[in-house]
Amino acid sequence: MSKHLIFKDIDQPGLHTLEVYKQRGGYGDRLKRALQMPREALVEELKASGLRGRGGAGFSMGMKASFMPKGTMDKYLVCNADESEPGTFKDRELMQKIPHLLIEGMIIGAYAAGANRSFVFIRGEYAQQADILEAAIAEAKAAGLVGENILGTGFDLDMWVHRGAGAYICGEETALLDALEGKRGNPRLKPPFPANQGLYQGPTLINNVETLATTPFIVEMGGAEYAKIGVDNSTGTKLISVSGHVQRPGNYEIELGMSSRDIIYGLAGGPGEGRSVKLWFPGGSSSPVLTGDDLDLSYDFDTLAKAGTMLGSGAIIVVDDTTSVVDVALKTASFYKHESCGKCTPCREGTNWTVKMLQRVKTGEATPMDLDIIASVCERIQGNCLCVLGDAMAMPVGSMVAKFRGEFEEYIEMKRDEAERALLASLP
Ligand code: NAD
Repeated sequence: MSKHLIFKDIDQPGLHTLEVYKQRGGYGDRLKRALQMPREALVEELKASGLRGRGGAGFSMGMKASFMPKGTMDKYLVCNADESEPGTFKDRELMQKIPHLLIEGMIIGAYAAGANRSFVFIRGEYAQQADILEAAIAEAKAAGLVGENILGTGFDLDMWVHRGAGAYICGEETALLDALEGKRGNPRLKPPFPANQGLYQGPTLINNVETLATTPFIVEMGGAEYAKIGVDNSTGTKLISVSGHVQRPGNYEIELGMSSRDIIYGLAGGPGEGRSVKLWFPGGSSSPVLTGDDLDLSYDFDTLAKAGTMLGSGAIIVVDDTTSVVDVALKTASFYKHESCGKCTPCREGTNWTVKMLQRVKTGEATPMDLDIIASVCERIQGNCLCVLGDAMAMPVGSMVAKFRGEFEEYIEMKRDEAERALLASLP
């Protein structure tokens, strides 16, 4: 079912301003209530809500907040707004139209983390959204909602927007922290996790835009009530971006557990007349692909995991039957090869070799044996890299080769015939 919580007023004119946001119930009582709760009680509410990270990994938000140490050292809240996963554009709309919801969520998140300094790391391409956020933060500061003694509760929080420079890897949390510190954005070895040693070596809570923007509703409704939305272990609503071969691409807010068919066909209109779904990425281009036979799967974390894929960032990319799977695989692999930071060997070499072998398939130089090599390279990348970027290529490409092996073989055969005919024609 499509259900509106985050996006309930999304088309309200002027929602990006403090005035309209407050008229629609923003800040006010719920924020004051959150800041008057003992920190541990707020963390318990977050845990009770069952909210799982909306950036891609689906890790319990309350659990992550509870990992933050209690001491008086400097602690930080970082909002990951580097939304770079292909097909994902939900945070963009959220920041553009409801920047104050993110700010309110950051105040709640920072209070739960015991942090007095917070940053939004936003991808460089989102210049318009960064400007909107900066203006909203200035408005919130002028109204005493950000800064010292927020709403008279004694809680202080400063907030900055930091613009990225266009690298996909900077969405990986530890690379993001390096970039925020002014270094080249390379992933760090984990553990230590940011909750223990993050920004400037201090404890840092990092959450995605949508995750933080959900917390005001949890405070308003109470964790237990929020947990009634959705299905077991996938509670709440989720913003999903639907793109590719559908008639109504866009962002939708759904209750977790909706049927994937209802999303792809019902909300997004499905592929054009006379076409059908050949494959779809359920959670951004790094998720293993599903086929037209999987459309009745419930769209939730556990069902998709059981089906061998993941909900990821909630970005559904639909590919119809007019498209060659070879092109989809090559395009996907090329993206990750380009974005690999090169720090670890399996990712740097593995993404490079996979692209080279898929190019051989495209040009008619490959044999079916190359498909076994691609599958084996993809298998060896997984779990062996410093961060998940290598896996993000290996999982979808490996799944395409496994599920569409016949089509890859036919393509190889066709291209080899073409190459042979061209060679014969060129002989004197
Ligand atoms: P992860 O599973 O390693 O970690 C998830 C979160 O939990 C992290 O914040 C991590 O610090 C924390 N965590 C996990 N175990 C912990 C522990 N023992 N102690 C303390 N903290 C702990 O995943 P990840 O690398 O953060 O994210 C990967 C996902 O990101 C991918 O699955 C992909 O879907 C997604 N992604 C999203 C985008 C986007 O644009 N939204 C882009 C690229 C990738």
